[in-house]
Amino acid sequence: MSDIPITVIGGGVIGCAIAYELSNDYEVLLIEKNQIPGENQSSRNSGVIHAGIYYKPDSLKARLCVEGNKLLYDFCEKNDVPYSRTGKLIVATNIEEEQCLENLLERANENGVPGVELVNASEYEPNVRANSALYVPTSGVVDSALLVSKLRELSTEVNFLDKSKVVWINGDKITLDSGETFETDLIINAAGLYAEDIAKLSNPNNSYSLTAFRGEAAKFYIREDTKVSMNVYPIPRDVVENGESFQTLGVHLTPTLDLEGELSQTVTIGPAYVGSVDREDYTHKANEQQFLDAVLPFFPNLTLEDISLHQTGIQMKSSSHDFIIEREGNMINFVGIDSPGLTSALAIAKHIRKSI
Ligand SMILES: Cc1cc2nc3c(=O)[nH]c(=O)nc-3n(C[C@H](O)[C@H](O)[C@H](O)COP(=O)(O)OP(=O)(O)OC[C@H]3O[C@@H](n4cnc5c(N)ncnc54)[C@H](O)[C@@H]3O)c2cc1C
Repeated sequence: MSDIPITVIGGGVIGCAIAYELSNDYEVLLIEKNQIPGENQSSRNSGVIHAGIYYKPDSLKARLCVEGNKLLYDFCEKNDVPYSRTGKLIVATNIEEEQCLENLLERANENGVPGVELVNASEYEPNVRANSALYVPTSGVVDSALLVSKLRELSTEVNFLDKSKVVWINGDKITLDSGETFETDLIINAAGLYAEDIAKLSNPNNSYSLTAFRGEAAKFYIREDTKVSMNVYPIPRDVVENGESFQTLGVHLTPTLDLEGELSQTVTIGPAYVGSVDREDYTHKANEQQFLDAVLPFFPNLTLEDISLHQTGIQMKSSSHDFIIEREGNMINFVGIDSPGLTSALAIAKHIRKSI
């Protein structure tokens, strides 16, 4: 292989969005260890297009999610990726939770998320019960696997090397599991669950602190009394793992799409988070009853018989609670790109162009 100006490690949504963004101006090689692109986090997620209301003002998550939300809708519309601007309700089922809604509304305004307002949930979703709710019009859903495929398809100038694993980095030299070594000017580390390991190959002193969480999902087929057409979320909750507190968005309902981008008959429930897991252990630990218990307070017509287990996905959460995007010598590291990484991908790619 001849020497390469830019090498992207990892063909999930982040690596593919960066390759797509740079492909017209630079010679780019993208290396992906898996056979099916996007097989890790990028196809094992809730597929929600987040609006950007949860994140600390001015954090990377807040800025890149709000910008990425707009870019993603435009991209999907222009390139026939199935998506739907469903909108979302965040529901409060008691007085304390109503106070949380007020706080979220304030944060939404600080983060520049348009159109968020307090509403009566049943006027939007008749099968949902709540004291009050926050309506978030810019939230939606996207087919994340097809998004990754489309980004690849449109990156016509990029060289994709699938089923190849980066096993060693020494300065500007990259070695693959085939034994082949080549030189590159710039390394983009978008290795997702393994980004921390890739960063350490380049600089063993890197000490990112990340925790692997498995998000488990279930699903049900809608009836008249369990139909929902929006994303329905509870109040966000903190989970403590290894003595550290991480915010999760709570077990929520997400409509899914058919290939035309119309809402299908299936709604997913999740993710239920399980901490400290092996990075590719996709087995289920949560059972149907746990999913039911999580949503019954705001979704009373669902029964245990309706629910079947769906998929699991794993994300690495950083103790900084934000995306870590750092340049170190000839490597740009994308570490701890957990949710809302899918939503933010196109904005992350634009952001990085400026630092090349
Ligand atoms: C359960 C769950 C729910 C989520 N829900 C949402 C949501 O609703 N909305 C949202 O915006 N975000 C969501 N996310 C987050 C989102 O999925 C991720 O932020 C995003 O997919 C990260 O993409 P990535 O490209 O960084 O990682 P990945 O998709 O994991 O891609 C990294 C790639 O790097 C490859 N790789 C790793 N090591 C090597 C190596 N040595 N050599 C070559 N290739 C390598 C891997 O095979 C992989 O394909 C969710 C995540 C999970 C797990």
